[in-house]
Amino acid sequence: MLKLRSLRSGYGRIPVLHGIDLEVREGELVALLGANGAGKTTLLNVLSGIYRPDGGEIWLGERRLAGEAHQFAAAGIARTFQNLQIFFNMSALENVMAGRWLRARCSLASTLFRLGNFREVERECRATAERLLDELGLARWREARADAMPYGALKRLEIARALAAEPTLLLLDEPAAGLNPGETREIDELIRRIVARGITVVLVEHNMKLVMGVSDHVVVLDYGRKLADGDPRSVSADPRVIEAYLGTGAPTC
Ligand code: ATP
Repeated sequence: MLKLRSLRSGYGRIPVLHGIDLEVREGELVALLGANGAGKTTLLNVLSGIYRPDGGEIWLGERRLAGEAHQFAAAGIARTFQNLQIFFNMSALENVMAGRWLRARCSLASTLFRLGNFREVERECRATAERLLDELGLARWREARADAMPYGALKRLEIARALAAEPTLLLLDEPAAGLNPGETREIDELIRRIVARGITVVLVEHNMKLVMGVSDHVVVLDYGRKLADGDPRSVSADPRVIEAYLGTGAPTC
């Protein structure tokens, strides 16, 4: 479903990704591992159209992706952020509805003047957002302003907003970072439910127990280059991965 060919990216003249090749099959969960600064978030930023690559190709199915972030989103890629990117002055419901508007078919004029099919589209957005808030255990926060919500709920709210856009590919950037063990278990279960729905997932996460439990396929980046690519068991036993990322005391599968 997703193919990267010799993908390069960087900041100004500083290269960060040095030609990444990657293939992700439909319905698969691929974990992207690597030490701090390895280039994982940069890769997600390129994959979601936030940064333009300096070279290489991104294919989603038969379609080569290029352009702006909204075009990547319309093609079916949704994401969450390592540092939450929530509309804090809006309610939880409005945050999720914002994700749903991507799929709304309503002209600018109808939206501005609340005419035509606007009411119907808004009702659908609201109903979908309410369903997702229920599914992700966020119903009690529905009308709360996001800045009044606890951190763990905000992490799930970002996932709900991403799911509202009905993605075919979901990019999760450290969804369990900063969560306690109970909240991490909830995220683990949620990720499994998302994959069971047939959504393909690329996961960046440092929690190895979570990663090894949910991944079909693991890719390790090291200084912007692919160091290893394979099933969780073989990658976690790879001496190069142990040396560059896991350390000798790390658990293997
Ligand atoms: P972490 O696990 O800490 O999130 P990462 O693997 O996601 O790390 P990136 O955030 O992609 O790594 O960073 C890759 C490299 O690019 C690092 O050397 C980082 O300092 C640099 N970098 C990241 N963002 C910028 C930026 N906006 N401007 C310049 N350099 C940046």
